[in-house]
Amino acid sequence: MDNVTTVTHPLVQHKLTHMRDKTTSTKSFRQLLREIATLLCYEVTRDLPLDPIQIETPLMPMQAQVLSGKKLVFAPILRAGLGFIEGMLDLVPSARIAHIGLYRDPESLTAVEYYFKAPSDLSERLVIVVDPMLATGNTAVAAFDRLKEHGATDLRVVSLLATEVGIANLLGHHPEVRIWTAGIDPVLNEHGYILPGLGDAGDRLYGTR
Ligand code: URA
Repeated sequence: MDNVTTVTHPLVQHKLTHMRDKTTSTKSFRQLLREIATLLCYEVTRDLPLDPIQIETPLMPMQAQVLSGKKLVFAPILRAGLGFIEGMLDLVPSARIAHIGLYRDPESLTAVEYYFKAPSDLSERLVIVVDPMLATGNTAVAAFDRLKEHGATDLRVVSLLATEVGIANLLGHHPEVRIWTAGIDPVLNEHGYILPGLGDAGDRLYGTR
C-alpha cells in the first residue's frame, strides 16, 4: 500500500496501546490523543516543501528555509477529530481549521453531514483531514467529497487507527490521497467498529459512554 504510512515510532505505539486499554481514564485518553496527534502531525508534514529566504543572524546574513505556500488546513471530522487539533496546533500554530460534522448512520453505516465550515481558498492550501478511526472509510470518503467540492486538490489524511477495508474504500474513491496512521487493525464488526480497536473514540474522548 504505497499511499499508506504506518507510523511505527515507539512513542506512538506506546501511547496507542494505552489508548486501547479500556481501563484508561477519559482524562488520560484525551491527553494521549493530544500527544499522539503531535507525533502524527510531525510525520504527515515531514516532506512539506520549503522556500529559501534571506535573514540575518546576530552574527551574519544567511539564506535559511521556511515553509512554502499558504498556511495548512487541518480538517477534523467531528467529533473525535477535535481531540487531535490542539496537539497538531502545538506544531503548526498558524494552521487554519475546517470543521466537518459527519456522523455514521447506525443502520446503514453511511455518513450523514450536519456541519461544514472551511476557509474559502481551499484550492490554494494543503488540507490534512483528521479522521481518528478510518473504519468503513465512508466518513472519510464523504469528507473528501465535500472538501473537493469546495476546491481542495491537495489532500492527506491522518488517522489513529485504520482498517484495510476502510483504506481500500477511501483509495477507491480518491486514489491520489495519502494516509498516515498509527495502526491498521484486521476486523470491522457488524456495527462498523474496529476490532480490536479502542472503542468509540468520541465517547472515550468526551466521557459519554
Ligand atoms: N469510530 C469509532 O469511534 N470507533 C470505531 O471502532 C470505529 C469508528
